Amino acid sequence: MSILVTGGTGYIGSHTCIALMEAGYDVVIADNYYNSKPVVLERIRELAGKEPVFYNCDIRDRAGLDKIFTEQKIDSVIHFAGLKAVGESCHMPLQYFDNNVSGTVVLLEVMAAHGVRRIVFSSSATVYGSENESPLVEDMHIGSVSNPYGRTKVMIEEILNDLYASDDRWSICKLRYFNPIGAHKSGRIGEDPNGIPNNLMPYISRVAVGKLEQLTIFGNDYDTPDGTCVRDYIHVLDLARGHINAVQKTLADTGLFTYNLGTGHGYSVLEVVNAFIKVTGQNVPYRIGPRREGDLACVYSDASRAKAELGWEAQYGIEDMCADAWRWQSRNPDGYDG
Ligand code: NAD
Ligand code: UDP
Repeated sequence: MSILVTGGTGYIGSHTCIALMEAGYDVVIADNYYNSKPVVLERIRELAGKEPVFYNCDIRDRAGLDKIFTEQKIDSVIHFAGLKAVGESCHMPLQYFDNNVSGTVVLLEVMAAHGVRRIVFSSSATVYGSENESPLVEDMHIGSVSNPYGRTKVMIEEILNDLYASDDRWSICKLRYFNPIGAHKSGRIGEDPNGIPNNLMPYISRVAVGKLEQLTIFGNDYDTPDGTCVRDYIHVLDLARGHINAVQKTLADTGLFTYNLGTGHGYSVLEVVNAFIKVTGQNVPYRIGPRREGDLACVYSDASRAKAELGWEAQYGIEDMCADAWRWQSRNPDGYDG
C-alpha cells in the first residue's frame, strides 16, 4: 500500500513517514520545504533504511499534485502540509487561509479526480476553542476559536464534513492533536523551529543547550493546581503511531471519523520544566512573566474514542518526552543546520 504524505519532511510528518515505512507501507512525500529542509529526507532514509519517493510540490499546485497521482498509485493520503504558527496567523491571515484552506481544497479535488477518497487530516485541539471544558470530547461543539490558524482547522474540518455528506464513498479521519513534543529515539530527527520558538518544549531545550538565556513562564495565576497552564503533551512517536491506525481505518472503512490524539493527562508548565530538569540533569533558568494573550488555563483530551475505535493509546510519559527532546537538541544544538 502506498501513502501520500503531504508535509512529510516536517516535524510530525518525518516521524510518521518512518513509522509508515517500518509498518511496511510505501511512502510518497509532497512538501515544498517551506518549513523543512532537504536533510530531513536523508535522515528519514537513514532511519527507515528505505527511500521515500519525494516530490518538491506545493499542495496549491494543481498540476504538480496531478503529476504525483498520475505517476504513483496512491491508496490513502495523510495531510500534514500547512502553516501552524498562531501568532503569525494573526499578522498574515490571508496566507494562512490560502495555504491551509485553499491548499486542502486543491488536494481534495485532485484526489477526487484520481478516485482516491481516503484521507487522514491533521486537525488540532485548538478547534475546541474557549467554550468547552476539559476533558475535551470529540462530540463537543467546535468553532469558538480566536485566531486565523485555528479557524483554518475548523474550516477544513467543515469542508471535510460537507465532502462526506456529498459522497459517502469517502473515508475521512480527522485527528485532533493535543501538544506534540519529543523526538525520535535516535536523536537524528526532531522539532527545529526557525528563530525563537513559540512553543514550550523547544524553548526549554534551547535554554538548556545554552542558545537562549531564560524561559519565561507565561503566568502563574491561573486557576490550576500550581497556577501555571495545563496541557496534554503527547510524544511525537505516539502521534506517529496513531497515524498508522488512522490510515488502516481509512483503508478498511468508509466514513467520517474524528479522534483526539492525546494522552488524556494534563501537565502544568512547571511540571514540564521540573520533569525536564530531573530527567536531563540540565539547568533551566526561568522567570514568571505575564500571561500570554489567548492562552487557556487547562486543555486536555478525553482519549477514549481513539482507544475504543482505533485500538490506539499513548505509551510514553512526560519523562520520555523530555529525555527524547533533549537527546535531539543536545546532539543537534543548531537543529538541522548543525
Ligand atoms: P511542520 O511545519 O514541521 O510541518 C509542516 C510541513 O508542511 C513542512 O515540512 C512544510 O514545509 C510543509 N508545507 C507547508 N505548507 C505547504 C504547502 N503549501 N505545500 C507543501 N508543503 C507545505 O509542522 P508540524 O508540527 O509537523 O505539523 C504538521 C501538521 O499538524 C500541521 O497541519 C499542523 O497545523 C498540525 N498540528 C501541529 C501541531 C503541533 O503542535 N506541532 C498541533 C496540532 C496540529
Ligand atoms: N509557555 C510558556 N513559555 C513559553 C512557551 C509556552 O510558559 O515560552 C506555556 C504556554 O503559556 C502554554 C504552554 O506553555 O500554557 C504550552 O504552550 P505551547 O505554545 O507549547 O502550546 P499551546 O499554547 O498551543 O497549547
